[in-house]
Amino acid sequence: MTVKGDRTSPPLRVLIHGASGRMGQALLRLAAGEPTLQVVAAVTHRPPATRVVDGVAYFAASELPGAPVFDVAIDFSLPEGFDPILALCLQRKAALVSGTTGLSEAQRAALQRAGGDIPVVWASNFSLGVAVLAELVERAAAALPGWDCDIIESHHIHKQDAPSGTALTLGQGVELAGATPRYASLRAGDIVGEHLVQFTGLGERVELTHRATNRDIFARGALHAAQRLTDRPPGLYRVRDLLD
Ligand code: NAD
Repeated sequence: MTVKGDRTSPPLRVLIHGASGRMGQALLRLAAGEPTLQVVAAVTHRPPATRVVDGVAYFAASELPGAPVFDVAIDFSLPEGFDPILALCLQRKAALVSGTTGLSEAQRAALQRAGGDIPVVWASNFSLGVAVLAELVERAAAALPGWDCDIIESHHIHKQDAPSGTALTLGQGVELAGATPRYASLRAGDIVGEHLVQFTGLGERVELTHRATNRDIFARGALHAAQRLTDRPPGLYRVRDLLD
């Protein structure tokens, strides 16, 4: 038996949505070195200056309906770009990996519904370290009832949503334990992403921190998820469901 994208089958056909962005560029660079993947389309918000770059065909978001056949779309764009790529994946019965943060309630609900028809994974953070941090935070929150919990996140100056999607995901884990987290956001320079979850009691403090120093960790996680997702039945998956 062969699995799509393994070394004995044709490469997995990937569409990168948000291709001109920081994440899009990392995805294109890393996918180029992966023989089991073939990027068939790179989609940017504005019409591209050059149609083909390093063998990859570029399309404007307005040209999305004319994109070539693909197995999975990887979306790291902005909330305003999310609805069209979700609709295209549903129409083409293709899988969707999305790391776009700042989605509205309605967009989250649409993602949930899409899981009834296609395989979908959305995560506010595709790094392994943050998956471990989330587990540690849940354990700490459960073990420290009555302590204050503050989630402090720092990102580069261009990041638009605040608190970050990762901070909100960590906060949901804290809420499961019955605590109410407070959030603080810092936007400065070129910080890739830092999350500090601080539990404060009387006379003592526990601090759990994750620092991303290179956004390749997110891109690698998303490419890994794409390879694991396409042969799954329809459903809304978490990164931890696709780890093995
Ligand atoms: P960026 O601003 O550098 O890039 C955004 C990209 O989206 C650009 O290519 C832009 O052309 C495109 N875009 C904007 N509006 C669009 C539209 N209407 N239609 C189609 N494309 C559109 O941002 P970035 O740093 O690359 O981050 C992109 C997204 O990924 C953000 O939401 C960010 O928070 C998120 N992110 C998630 C993770 C994760 O692990 N889940 C990690 C890093 C960033």
